[in-house]
Amino acid sequence: MPQKRTSHLLTNLRSLMKNTTYVPQAINAYIIPSGDAHQSEYIAECDERRAFISGFTGSAGTAVVTDSTAALWTDGRYYLQARQEMDDNWILMKQGIPSTLTEAKWLSKTLNVGSVVGVDPYLVESEWWRDLAKELQGAGQTLIPVSKNLIDIIWEDRPKRPIKPVVPLEVKYTGRSVAEKLQELRCKLIEENAAMIIITALDEVAYLFNLRGSDIAYNPVFFSYAAVTSNEAYLFVNLSQLTGAAKDSLKAEGVNIKILPYEELSHFIENELATLSGKVWVSNHSSQAIAQMVPKERRIVKLSPIALMKAVKNETEIKGMEACHIRDAVALCQYFHWLEKEAIAGTQTEISAANYLQKLREDQENFVGPSFSTISSVGPNASIVHYEPAPETDRKITTEEIYLCDSGGQYKDGTTDVTRTMHFGIPSKFEQECYTRVLKGVISIATCIFPSEVKGNCLDTLARKALWDVGLDYGHGTGHGLGMYLNVHEGPMGVSWRSYPDDPGLKEGMFLSDEPGYYEDGKFGIRIENVVRVVKAETPYNHRDRGFLTFKTITYVPIQTKLIDPSLLTKKEVDWLNSYHMECRNKVGELLLQQGHQEAYNWLVRETQPIG
Ligand code: ZN
Ligand code: ZN
Repeated sequence: MPQKRTSHLLTNLRSLMKNTTYVPQAINAYIIPSGDAHQSEYIAECDERRAFISGFTGSAGTAVVTDSTAALWTDGRYYLQARQEMDDNWILMKQGIPSTLTEAKWLSKTLNVGSVVGVDPYLVESEWWRDLAKELQGAGQTLIPVSKNLIDIIWEDRPKRPIKPVVPLEVKYTGRSVAEKLQELRCKLIEENAAMIIITALDEVAYLFNLRGSDIAYNPVFFSYAAVTSNEAYLFVNLSQLTGAAKDSLKAEGVNIKILPYEELSHFIENELATLSGKVWVSNHSSQAIAQMVPKERRIVKLSPIALMKAVKNETEIKGMEACHIRDAVALCQYFHWLEKEAIAGTQTEISAANYLQKLREDQENFVGPSFSTISSVGPNASIVHYEPAPETDRKITTEEIYLCDSGGQYKDGTTDVTRTMHFGIPSKFEQECYTRVLKGVISIATCIFPSEVKGNCLDTLARKALWDVGLDYGHGTGHGLGMYLNVHEGPMGVSWRSYPDDPGLKEGMFLSDEPGYYEDGKFGIRIENVVRVVKAETPYNHRDRGFLTFKTITYVPIQTKLIDPSLLTKKEVDWLNSYHMECRNKVGELLLQQGHQEAYNWLVRETQPIG
């Protein structure tokens, strides 16, 4: 990405910061966060305000513009990229380095006492707001909401907000009608003594109403809000987006669902507060703007119950998730079989190969699109965890270097996310050792037995032990939840050394990734990622009737045995691998043959030969 010239933009922004037509009072600093009004992980182009003002296009970062300075905070993944993309108007604040001040500390040090800091309250979570306001107050400064977004005013060619068609997802995929979901939600409202809940997360709205859209790349969601009371449900959406089929599907539910324009939400809340008695539930992840519409004494701030409803999959969703992973594996077996030959010929690059993989997935039933941007990476590029191939860095896939491919698909019956690391030539001893230790972590998670509702971060060490034993480690988490034809990263649980504050503990029916890795900076990267389902475990005892759980692996793509040093595996691990490979052969082999991919089938058989 070329460096962006930002001088004129900063001049325009600074003049708006003093213009009381746009700000409630003159401000001395304006914060530009990365997010959208729904606190989405992936955002639409029209919401890429931080990238617009700073030039830095990475996924994480916060920009702050004062009367005289502009600063950008981002983490270690992006130091280099940020410095390259930003001009010298911008100071780079390296998050994760102990000497780097936080945004709040920096503001309180840089600005005078009595200064005023502004931010668009729709773009930040209420908890974030509370913490920053408190810290600034300690320094004699004030945080104020600036509801008219100042970047939108100076952004002349800002892309339009997407208004893509919203379609129904049939009960044969969702397993539960909207009426049933509303009924469960209303039970939660009664438990919490809430008269109404406001839903702001896009995937929660899509889940609740059995609808899907495509406003945000890779995420089958649409811009919307929802509100549910004891007898009514409201969907706030751009009305032109709702297809006839979507409207019909809501009507057919036989429950009263009212559809209102997206912009109506604030008026609606105001009116409801006047007529409704009782408390209003807002998610702890909703924006400050939405949260503060409800007076504090009437507000319940707590994780949305839909987050948990969505995380625990029903029988139909479980079947769909398992079935789409088998079809996804067909595409991946075809892919790796093809790539092995291409690597010898040296005819493909990271990008061209990734494009071919998408073509293969498109042939599979129910495929809608990729679930995230494919990480197709060779050699040193694979050591960058969040690498995305770009024309400037695109590398040839050869027999000389390790190839790492992390990709996934959105299918109407589920979402996939799988990583395989392969060497098409002769791996070094050290590469084999690292790969085998990563695999030991994968198996350790896949086979562990744990009490019901243990929090995911208790399991994280299991995935790292074989690496820690020899002084190695990896910098990312071990597992994230996945949606059912929804976002590929889904809370509220996860497996990481970090604890997830909202983690309700692991429950039967949840799906998570199991993805340890190892990255040798500048040389190679290894990651093996499977999706696992939380299932009941058979144990000889059952202490205090807690119920014990384990995982069932549902990704069925061969794990390259060439990269394994069998002397590092225990008998139990060898047995696991062999039986895993038999399952791959049985489940995926049949479908490969049915679809007429004889050569890929032969490859699958070869790659699943037992070891040891
Ligand atoms: Zn992945
Ligand atoms: Zn993943």
